[in-house]
This record gives sequence, structure tokens and C-alpha cells, in this order.
Amino acid sequence: MRAPSTESLVLTFEDARRVAERHASQVPPGASETLDLLLSAGRVLAETIVADRDIPPFPRSTRDGYAVLASDLARLPAKLKVIGEIKAGPLPGGVLPTLNPGETFSIMTGAPAPQGADAVVMVEYTSQQDGVVEFTKGVAPGENIVAQGAEAQRCDLLVDSGALLNEAAIALAASVGKSKVKVFVRPRVAILTTGDEIVAIDAQPGPAQIRNSNTYSLAVQVQEAGGDPVLLPIAPDEPRRLRQLIEEGLGSDLLLMTGGVSMGRYDLVEQVLAELQAEFFFTGARIQPGKPVVFGRCQCGSGRPARSGASAPGSSRASHKYFFGLPGNPVSTMVTFELFARSMLEALAGMRPRPLAFLHARLKSEIRVKTGLTRFLPAILSGEYEQSHVELVPWQGSGDIAARARSNCFIVIPPDREHILAGEWVAVMLR
Ligand code: AMP
Ligand code: MG
Repeated sequence: MRAPSTESLVLTFEDARRVAERHASQVPPGASETLDLLLSAGRVLAETIVADRDIPPFPRSTRDGYAVLASDLARLPAKLKVIGEIKAGPLPGGVLPTLNPGETFSIMTGAPAPQGADAVVMVEYTSQQDGVVEFTKGVAPGENIVAQGAEAQRCDLLVDSGALLNEAAIALAASVGKSKVKVFVRPRVAILTTGDEIVAIDAQPGPAQIRNSNTYSLAVQVQEAGGDPVLLPIAPDEPRRLRQLIEEGLGSDLLLMTGGVSMGRYDLVEQVLAELQAEFFFTGARIQPGKPVVFGRCQCGSGRPARSGASAPGSSRASHKYFFGLPGNPVSTMVTFELFARSMLEALAGMRPRPLAFLHARLKSEIRVKTGLTRFLPAILSGEYEQSHVELVPWQGSGDIAARARSNCFIVIPPDREHILAGEWVAVMLR
């Protein structure tokens, strides 16, 4: 019996992507844990980070120079009396000095502007002699001073729950004094590779055997997308053992399978999933590489919670589990993970959804392809600034990992194009 590979479940790239995104957006966030700030890099924030005071907390000079009242420099050159120096750090006596018309303070970058000052003139436009500064350039009110609270006011939201903790988010957490943050627990992602010809990487392959590389590429992609890979044994092209391993994989938060989803007689993944009463959202996408990709979910009643100790609402995940059957050709596996599985994994990791990003570059050499499929072809993006150009990497098709390793992006070709001329702008997916 072959399971439900009806043509209606083969979607265009856009439709398949929309379906995967829609399901990802409905996944509830998981449990959280508290980590030291530095250990939270690359994790997903499970709380909000709020300003504990105005930022900046005082009107901050952004230059080394002189604090002035801008109207004192209406006529140039102007001369003002220096009545003191303000540097970054504690203020003498703890109070902000006051500036009166006709006066100026020497001031350093990062120091608080005195009361009554409304601008700072860069030291480059001044000369000082005997306690008097001569200005050769005027300023507009507000110039070179960031007003108190201009970046954020006390109680403002700085980083929202669901944000990826990159260096900027961590800097904001540090700036409000958070040495520990709450992050979402990383989802566990089972990786199951299938195929009678596939052997473990520490085994000596026979002449017709292939070492298992997909488990490794997927494990890297899973980790990068915020998940913890759980590596299952290689499944043979035999339904009973395959079913056992699929059931085991469905005990994790997400199951990624590779191989066994094409039209061959021994491509059994869909059949076994159908026996498990899986619901299929698509069983193919009109793309190359990666056409036989499968996405669905299982109301699998093993009942075993995915994460020991996971608290509600994450525990609701145990009721059904999503799976992707990714084609076994290594580049297809990599591409279909990026196009469809990554958004689900990021959602399980608690991240807010984000669109697939494409940039555009000029094509170096013409491309000819057949119409009908959206193509994601390994390519090299080079050049700089507005001069970016991109060209295909010669490859032997979707099994060619070496070509993929030489590439630094994919050229995306829409299904209605068969001849793209050198010099045309093309969409590029960075990876
Ligand atoms: P399949 O999708 O099972 O028809 O496999 C397509 C191609 O990918 C075949 O040439 C397989 O040998 C190869 N392949 C499948 N799984 C893996 C794997 N884990 N590592 C490397 N190559 C694989
Ligand atoms: Mg196979």
C-alpha cells in the first residue's frame, strides 16, 4: 500500500511554505529555564526585558567639546567663559552643574550635559585661551546631546519574549542589570535516517553502501535553529523496524526523517506514517531539489511527554507531534530543512515567526532550466556593496554535497522562468 501521495498534496513552493508557517504559528511555547546571561547567547527569551530607568539616564554628550546654549553662538566667532569641566563618571558633589548664558563647560563623550545647556560643540571647532573659548561654528539646539530617556523611558519594553538573544539583546539585558534571564527550553528533535544502503560513519562501507551524512548535516541545522538533536539508529527499508523507530522519534518534540519518501518501491516512510494514522499536510512540493518532501502530524498515543519535567503549556505538545519526511539526497535534505522545517523548529523553540529572507544580486552567467519547479540552486555570491553578483556552482544534482560545500547561497528561480540572462537580478537565499 502506498499512502496518500495524491497530486493534490503536492503544493507549490509558496503554498507549502504557507502551510508550514501556519502550523508553526500555532505551536504553543514550551517550558522555560533560568540561565546566567552569558550562557543565554543564541537562546530564545521567555520573559520581557524592561527598562529599569530612562536610557540614557541623563542628557548625554556624544562628543568631546563644549556644552553651550545654542543661542549663545548665533553670531560667530563667539566667545564664552569656561567655568568648569564635566567628565564621564561620578559628578563632583553628586549634582549636575548649571550653565548660564555666556558660559560654557568643557565636556567629554558620555558625560551628562549641564542643566541649561542644549548643545555640545565639538572640540575641533573651538580654541581655548585664558579660560575663554572661541567658537568658529554654531550648533542647532539638541546637537550632540541625546536627551534623557530618548532611547527608552523607564518601564519601556526593550526585548520581547520570543526574541533570539543576540549580542544586542544581551547588551540590553546587561544594561538593565539582568545577570540571569529566562529562556525557553530547547526542543528535542529526533533525527531518523532511512535506507538499506546507509551505514554509520565509523563503519567501513561496502562497495554499494553510503555513509550516513544526513544525520550530521541535520543535527547541525537543528542546533543552529535552537533545537537539541536526538540521533536515532539508521532505519532499514523494512516497515516493522521503520515503524518502531518512527514511534520512538515521535516521543521527541519534532521528528525529522530523511530518505524513503520518493516513489521507489522501498520508500516506505509515508506508508508507515499512514499506518500510524498520520495527518498529511503535503506530500510533495514543486521545488528542486527536494520535491518529495512530506509534512504532517501524528496523534501518536505513546503518551510519553517529550520533555521530562516540562510544565504546561508545553506539555500540550504530547497530544500530537509534527514530522517532516525530507528527501534523502543530501542537498535536498539541507534545502528542505531550511525551507519548511526550520520555521516549525524555531516556533517550538519559542521564537517569534520570521519570514524567509531573500536578497537580490546580479546573475553573472545565464541559466537555463525547465519550467514548473521553484529551484534553489547552489551558488556563489561575491563582490561588494552594490556590485554583488552571483553564479551557479557546477553540480551533479541534489546528491552533490561537495558542490553545496563550495557554495555560499542558493539562487532561487521561479517556476515560470526557463532562461535567465546574465545581468538580470535574481533572488538569493543566503545559507
Ligand atoms: P531516498 O530519498 O531514500 O530515495 O535517497 C535518495 C538518495 O540519497 C540516495 O542516493 C541515498 O543513498 C541518499 N541518502 C539517503 N539517506 C542518506 C544519508 N543519511 N546520508 C547520505 N546519503 C543518503
Ligand atoms: Mg532510500
